[in-house]
Amino acid sequence: MEEYSSKLLTKAIEQFASLPGIGKRTAMRLALHLLKQDKEHVKQFGTAFIDLREKIQYCKKCYNISETEICSICSNPRRDQSIICVVEDIRDVMAIENTSQYKGLYHVLGGIISPMDGIGPADLTIDELVNRVSEGKVNEVIMALSTTMEGDTTNFYLFKRLKHIELQVSTIARGIAIGDELEYADELTLGKSLINRVLYENTLAR
Ligand code: ZN
Repeated sequence: MEEYSSKLLTKAIEQFASLPGIGKRTAMRLALHLLKQDKEHVKQFGTAFIDLREKIQYCKKCYNISETEICSICSNPRRDQSIICVVEDIRDVMAIENTSQYKGLYHVLGGIISPMDGIGPADLTIDELVNRVSEGKVNEVIMALSTTMEGDTTNFYLFKRLKHIELQVSTIARGIAIGDELEYADELTLGKSLINRVLYENTLAR
């Protein structure tokens, strides 16, 4: 990165440029834009990111992001505690919440099984899920993973781990095109695929 008349400006540009999708020209434009804002506004801007990293933690039950030990979904008495929807990451929780079609709980895996990327079951919160449902209060686990090969592998693995426990294992209906990620599906389609979920066993070839 070339030097500008101010090292502080160079530093700010470098920080912006370190974000995904931000090129050097955009980084410069953003940094100069901030320089023109009033000081209080920029302070709030900076504090928002520090707080984001410092104060947000992962829910001890479902691994969703939370500002408290147990997240607001897990601790909400109006949510159906007998259903757990398993998702890859927190963006999927947000996508499903936006559909307003689901009133159960979640379990965030933190990824999906992907041998190509060196991600195995032990890297995900699968043991935690099995422990959670083993307590016996859960009647159904809905697997809402992407319809990719990795998603299918993960579904199958989860099913194997869960089938000895007395509960239903279902998967979201495949209205979503193959390879689409949950977060990109529109709310209506996603909501419908949750309502029209099917027993996982029935999706396996006999
Ligand atoms: Zn939670």
